[in-house]
Amino acid sequence: MTSMHKIFRAVIMGPPGSGKGTVSARITKSFALTHLSSGDILRANINAKTELGLLMKSCIDQGQLVPDDVISRLILSDLRGLGQCSWLLDGFPRTVPQAEALDDACSVDLVVNLNVPFQTIKQRLTSRWTHLPSGRVYNTDFNPPKVSGLDDVTGEPLVQRDDDSPETVTRRLKSYETQTEPVLEYYRCKGLLQSFSGTETNKIWPHVEEFLRRKLSSLK
Ligand code: ATP
Ligand code: MG
Repeated sequence: MTSMHKIFRAVIMGPPGSGKGTVSARITKSFALTHLSSGDILRANINAKTELGLLMKSCIDQGQLVPDDVISRLILSDLRGLGQCSWLLDGFPRTVPQAEALDDACSVDLVVNLNVPFQTIKQRLTSRWTHLPSGRVYNTDFNPPKVSGLDDVTGEPLVQRDDDSPETVTRRLKSYETQTEPVLEYYRCKGLLQSFSGTETNKIWPHVEEFLRRKLSSLK
């Protein structure tokens, strides 16, 4: 574990199913950052049947984005709750208004972009299994759990997400193109964007790790 003296705030971006969850888990394991995933937070609300979760479920199941003001309020209040610590935001911001809301609240040091072709993603999402309570993800093709259908850490059952059906995946990719790609441009203009391209998480990860190791040791 690389410890940090300065507070470091990063965002991880990439199309749905690009490996943000997996790479985030590796980042938080190797570096002292707190992981905050908007998708995990929303799914926890749905699971717990909170008012917000019930309101947002149909939106999410249809592969649509939830309203900017709702998600921004939710995430920014969670970030405030973290206090003065280093974090990694996953799944937020996903639109330019969300990026602006984040900017108004705090400064971001780095945006890691996982650049994975859409074709790869479509194949991937249909073979994905999730441990809902933790957000850990597995893939029956290239990252299977030790015991089929069960989470490695807790032994609890894995599920396929309601929004991982082929039609919904297509819709999510569309909204990524129209609403989220402009956010990449937004951060590119600020000089914060660092992209990593590839089709396999295990091949992309060493480059992300090496980059972060250098970046974080230069902060000490
Ligand atoms: P993955 O996380 O597997 O790469 P993804 O990015 O599509 O795929 P999540 O981040 O888990 O999935 O989000 C799931 C759903 O939650 C989204 O399709 C969307 O409906 C909603 N959601 C999550 N984050 C946001 C956000 N920042 N703004 C609006 N909606 C969001
Ligand atoms: Mg996710």
